Amino acid sequence: LWAYLQDKFRASLTATGYSTWIKDAKPVRLTGNTLTIGVPSELHKNYWEKRLVTKVVEWAFAYNNLEINPVIEITGSLPDEVIGLGSVEPEPEVKKVVPTYKETTHLNPKYTFETFVTGKGNQMAHAAALVVSEEPGMLYNPLFLYGGVGLGKTHLMEAIGHQLVEYKPNANVKYVTSEAFANDFINSIQTKKQEQFRQEYRNVDLLLVDDIQFFGEKEATQEEFFHTFNALYENKKQIVLTSDRLPSEIPKLQERLVSRFAWGLSVDITPPDLETRIAILRNKADAEHLVIPDDTLSYIAGQIDSNVRELEGALVRVQAYATMNHSDISTSLAADALKSLKLSDKDAALTIGQIQQVVAKYYSVTVSELKGKKRVKQIVMPRQIAMYLSREMTDSSLPKIGAEFGGKDHTTVIHAHEKIAEQMGLDEQLKTEIIELKNRLKNRG
Ligand code: ADP
Ligand code: MG
Repeated sequence: LWAYLQDKFRASLTATGYSTWIKDAKPVRLTGNTLTIGVPSELHKNYWEKRLVTKVVEWAFAYNNLEINPVIEITGSLPDEVIGLGSVEPEPEVKKVVPTYKETTHLNPKYTFETFVTGKGNQMAHAAALVVSEEPGMLYNPLFLYGGVGLGKTHLMEAIGHQLVEYKPNANVKYVTSEAFANDFINSIQTKKQEQFRQEYRNVDLLLVDDIQFFGEKEATQEEFFHTFNALYENKKQIVLTSDRLPSEIPKLQERLVSRFAWGLSVDITPPDLETRIAILRNKADAEHLVIPDDTLSYIAGQIDSNVRELEGALVRVQAYATMNHSDISTSLAADALKSLKLSDKDAALTIGQIQQVVAKYYSVTVSELKGKKRVKQIVMPRQIAMYLSREMTDSSLPKIGAEFGGKDHTTVIHAHEKIAEQMGLDEQLKTEIIELKNRLKNRG
């Protein structure tokens, strides 16, 4: 019976859906008419009960007139092995036609469920994203994804958009960063096109707003977003939000937004474990047709444990190094490539210390003044600029940046970042200076 049910599910769900909901479910016992089905998590249980149980009843009856009463049970932890999505069934190598909707939705064509590797740290987020893409506006509204830099929030969020458009080509999907939303809104006021702005944001089936931590302190934008949110929510349109932290931890985010963001489901993404990192590298290597031995992939995955973006960067670097040296990719070559990453000054990641030095020199102040507390204009501005550049040009977290500026609070960094971003829009001179500083930093001069 189970094999039969699996076949039916396989035929009726997408490959991604099957691998998410069915693959890790198992029949636990059959007592009388009660079939107990074990699933890995609360989220799975929820989905099974809401969507799949009725099918089991129907199909069991069709199978052999069995009157089955399925009961869903959470059987312990999530599976230990990585459930890489690519591993379901090798899908035929049909190159997809580049989707035409890309233009209007601003989605990155690479960020799909197919290319997203799941593991412990992101499994819940992935499952929730999948539910939302299949039944937008129904179960988890809003879906709030949060977690550190480079862990796949944007990727998952955009995957929801792709998936929805795949099911419903006419669906209206809009992806924006919170900054773009704010800019659009401000522009609409300046050009007296608020009506058009509202049309654009409220007339969608799925609104994706990325990195909403930058809404903090933007009063008017929050006000507008509040109304956008309500309009969409009332019409059962799906809203998906990402942030680097929980809504309640975003400084100056209005209470009514904080509470609304909690109406649906909030899921965090945590850094991938070693197995998942290896699986991500394997996927990426295969996608680019790179021949890389397993032990080399394990080596690279062992070197980079912070975030997926860096992990991808390391792979690109190893690949470039192999090309330059006309050699195959091996572990010792990878070791060389990644070692020189740490040694070579120019290509090494820019540090906050370097930013402080360049900014201090440029504005004729000292580094310790930048790190200090003096609130005179000649120092405050360079200090905020240095913080802004640290946020823009390094992967450092907000608390880390704060710490490097003499132990300031991360909200100070957020404030500085926003202030400068805003000023740059108004002050051409400042904008030119920042561009110049960025160039100097890129060339380390
Ligand atoms: P965030 O928005 O959380 O900062 P991104 O979504 O931009 O992170 O992810 C950074 C990079 O890492 C992207 O290129 C993304 O495709 C990749 N990535 C992150 N998580 C995964 C994953 N689980 N599987 C495959 N690629 C991933
Ligand atoms: Mg992102």
